[in-house]
Amino acid sequence: MRRVGFRWIARGSCRHPEAMTISGGSLCPATFPALVGVIAHPERGIFLFDTGYDPAFLAATRPFPERLYRWTTPVQIGPQAEWRAWLAAHGIAEGDLAGTVVSHFHGDHVAGLRNLAHLPVWCARAGLEDLRQAGRFMRVRKGYLAHCVPDALDARFFEDAPEVALPSAFAPFTVGRDILGDGSLIAVPLPGHCPGHWGLAFQSEEGRDVLLAADAVWFGKSIEERRPPPRITTALLGDTRGYRATLNLLHRASLNNRDLAILPSHCAASAAAFRGENGG
Ligand SMILES: [Zn+2]
Repeated sequence: MRRVGFRWIARGSCRHPEAMTISGGSLCPATFPALVGVIAHPERGIFLFDTGYDPAFLAATRPFPERLYRWTTPVQIGPQAEWRAWLAAHGIAEGDLAGTVVSHFHGDHVAGLRNLAHLPVWCARAGLEDLRQAGRFMRVRKGYLAHCVPDALDARFFEDAPEVALPSAFAPFTVGRDILGDGSLIAVPLPGHCPGHWGLAFQSEEGRDVLLAADAVWFGKSIEERRPPPRITTALLGDTRGYRATLNLLHRASLNNRDLAILPSHCAASAAAFRGENGG
């Protein structure tokens, strides 16, 4: 695989009872960072994997019924999550940005998309269609905030990219979609969380095999211990059977290759371990 630079950086967070996100979890609220992948391609510039939270989330969830979204998952979006402040804090030159890879269209993954509206967006056709087809109330129920997604999106669909074999490091995931056509970023379907939910496989500059797992789980320990969220959560957002099949594949991948970094979008412990913090 063509190697890319990679950083995994939080942009805002929310709080939600742990029990809704992992079976046997606590009823106490846990904090879930919204992590953004900053991927530096050696020639084409910087691609973001999702956008995390953004002040646009607050604007989009001010009216009803969208305000229910904010009540369900109270958010922390400090001034450091303001777009240009966040870029500056992490040494990202706005002119170096080349596009966004969207795992799925839940509001906490695309809230900042209007900042990137002038650049191409790689995403699942199935995900964008689901967002566009739902009525306003249904969108809120499904976790979508249509206002955050520009109408005129320069969308490049995963489904249309050439299918390629994945290196054995990612087994039992065997194929994905080569979204840039040079073997650097391979989108991998991870069905179940919601329609059009995909992850991203690549190899970092340091030679680390990475699978960004988006919301296939909320916690890395869900993969290790094969502990899915309760059915009430997976049935509300997506499809429980597909979700659990994906979790089984992730579990097998983690057993198959202990060095594979599987990074869920909201797991602070997995992110810290990846960065080498907490002795991980
Ligand atoms: Zn989600």
